[in-house]
Amino acid sequence: MGSINLDLVARAERLPRPGETVGGATFVRVPGGKGANQAVAAARLGADVTLIACIGGDDFGREALAELERAGVGLELLKTAPAATTGVALITVDADGENEIVVAPGANLELRPEDVVLPDAGGVLAQLEIPPDTVRHVAATAPGPFFLNAAPARGPVPAADVTVVNRYELEALTQRDGVIAVTLGAEGAVLLEGGAEVARAAAPDVEAVDGTAAGDAFTACLVVSLLEGRERDDALRRACAAGALAASRFGAQTSLPTAAEVDALL
Ligand code: ADP
Repeated sequence: MGSINLDLVARAERLPRPGETVGGATFVRVPGGKGANQAVAAARLGADVTLIACIGGDDFGREALAELERAGVGLELLKTAPAATTGVALITVDADGENEIVVAPGANLELRPEDVVLPDAGGVLAQLEIPPDTVRHVAATAPGPFFLNAAPARGPVPAADVTVVNRYELEALTQRDGVIAVTLGAEGAVLLEGGAEVARAAAPDVEAVDGTAAGDAFTACLVVSLLEGRERDDALRRACAAGALAASRFGAQTSLPTAAEVDALL
């Protein structure tokens, strides 16, 4: 369950200062949003995925679904808020890969607790780009284990069986029940339980070209691996490999690896 955005990406020589216009950029529109990214990632890794999310009544909505459809993600529980705009991220990237991002969540904020009827599922995964009360509702009613990617960092979050964060999101995390997976970029990741480290994995050595969606690939792979019944160490190793593969390719949903690619890297 989570967000769907259309990313509007302009690549320019440099980022503009306030009030300044920078010309000569190139432009692409690509599907994004943490919910959609993680749903596509989990489907590529072999899971049977249904996405609960909300798009607007505009043309961007259908366009944002393209990779989800290609990956075979179930969209039967998708809500459309006709008067809302589909979530949009306005992204400017400079020649060094530095970026500036403005997110207009639009229809993602229309996903209300009463819209969420959970199917009989092996587990539920959510992130924080939808209303907090909707996340709390799902945490309380999930039929199986509840996984939370507590990103982007935000105030109080509900307890989860497994919470995934990066270093910065860990600092903002107000509750530390259950297992906490902390991603450490090129250094891999650790699992914490009761404040103690219970597992650690290195990230495979790759040539990193674009960190976009590395965290999404990691999160989806950790969840899918645990639901497949793998041991924690093995699940963490696979998640690090999935994150590294995503970091070694350009783009968000296009950079997400398959299970076979994770196996091959390991
Ligand atoms: P986020 O993008 O959410 O801040 P990280 O940067 O920690 O998350 O990346 C998530 C995971 O992706 C890491 O735990 C690691 O396994 C993998 N990863 C990210 N960057 C690299 C890199 N440069 N080389 C290898 N693996 C990476």
